[in-house]
Amino acid sequence: MRVHARSLTIPRLQAGGLNLGYRCSSHCRHCLYACGPHRRDGLPDSPDALHSLLDELKSRAPLASFHIGGGEPFLDVDLLSSVLEGLSDRGLLFDYVETNASWVLSESHARATLERLRALGLNGLLVSASHFHAEFTKPRKTLALIAVARQILAGGVIVWLPDFVPDLASFDQDSRLDLDALIAERGDGFALQVGMRYGVIPGGRGGRLLAAHGFCMDWSDAASGAPCRQRLVSTTHFHVDLAGNYVPGLCGGIVVPLSLVPGEIPMDRFPLLDRIYNQGLESLVTWAMDEHGFTPLDSGYSGACDLCTHVRIHLHDRGSFEELGPPGFYDEKSISGY
Ligand code: SF4
Ligand code: SF4
Repeated sequence: MRVHARSLTIPRLQAGGLNLGYRCSSHCRHCLYACGPHRRDGLPDSPDALHSLLDELKSRAPLASFHIGGGEPFLDVDLLSSVLEGLSDRGLLFDYVETNASWVLSESHARATLERLRALGLNGLLVSASHFHAEFTKPRKTLALIAVARQILAGGVIVWLPDFVPDLASFDQDSRLDLDALIAERGDGFALQVGMRYGVIPGGRGGRLLAAHGFCMDWSDAASGAPCRQRLVSTTHFHVDLAGNYVPGLCGGIVVPLSLVPGEIPMDRFPLLDRIYNQGLESLVTWAMDEHGFTPLDSGYSGACDLCTHVRIHLHDRGSFEELGPPGFYDEKSISGY
């Protein structure tokens, strides 16, 4: 029998996001979970499956506080309504819904939608605001939604990030931002500055965003700073999707079934996770090089999670690894640039 150096034990679930699928109206270049209009994964098969998933959350994370995200949750307001009701019926703590505001047709439409959801328990909203979001959502929509939500939701609005509101106010209100043109005019330093202001995490598409503008290091340097041991056990910002996948803290593209957490993860079932957690990212890379023909990019990586994403994409195409999911993350439309 194989003896593990250390097993991975996920502790009590504290705070997390419930992802209502990975479909999004936008295809932001910094997206950690590689969401986009093409994605259809992360959803329950049926209303019964949704109820079962919420029951499972109640039993596995009874004291956790949840926010709702995606993908873009307002693309399916009926589903969002069902989830809000389901959380409330089960007495689960719920903070806010994240949105990119793309669905807003007018102030009155935003007001009517929020009022409908407020009656089901919506108390607060997180509205995304940045150059990356403005590439897909007209600034007028974002600013209107912030104003309306402030008026009618008692829990208020988190603007993520408020530092970008003056930028949005200065853009053409009724056009999507031409970010490529702006970067062409101001240079890579500008793109990196916006990324740093936003706090882009160098994983998912965000890793390639930073690398594309020159924030790069050799693969061994990227691997040496990997935060895996701490991230994989952190339960202060986990995600669960409606297909029953548990995504450990900020590790887009890595999943284990919700039915296994909290608790000790059976590592025999998840060999890549086992290697990353017990031997480190560098070990995964050298194993992928020796056994699966992986070649690190000469141009380098923006950080450990960028490298990790690239190795996982390579392995996903060459084997069946249960921990590499959800499936749409590895669709070539989701992640490109490697
Ligand atoms: S960052 Fe948010 S708005 Fe942008 S693609 Fe990802 S889920 Fe959609
Ligand atoms: S390197 Fe991979 S496993 Fe480690 S924290 Fe980043 S995404 Fe998670």
